[in-house]
Amino acid sequence: MPKPKAMVDYSKCRSERCDTGTCPAVAECSHKTLIQDAPWEMPYSLQDFCIGCGKCAIACPFKAIIMK
Ligand code: SF4
Ligand code: SF4
Repeated sequence: MPKPKAMVDYSKCRSERCDTGTCPAVAECSHKTLIQDAPWEMPYSLQDFCIGCGKCAIACPFKAIIMK
């Protein structure tokens, strides 16, 4: 069974309301597979390299990270 991967649900992401522009979910990803190109932008997941730990999903206050 393959591990689930992090996916951003862009209908739920509210990056304009997250901290000081830094996505808290990105900050939790120690594998650097959730990327935010610039402050206040929505992040994206490098799914091929995501290990499926789920830390980003827990950190997102808007439940905008789906593990599947
Ligand atoms: S923490 Fe969630 S809502 Fe905030 S920018 Fe990251 S993915 Fe979007
Ligand atoms: S599930 Fe883990 S490895 Fe994958 S993007 Fe989220 S924090 Fe990073």
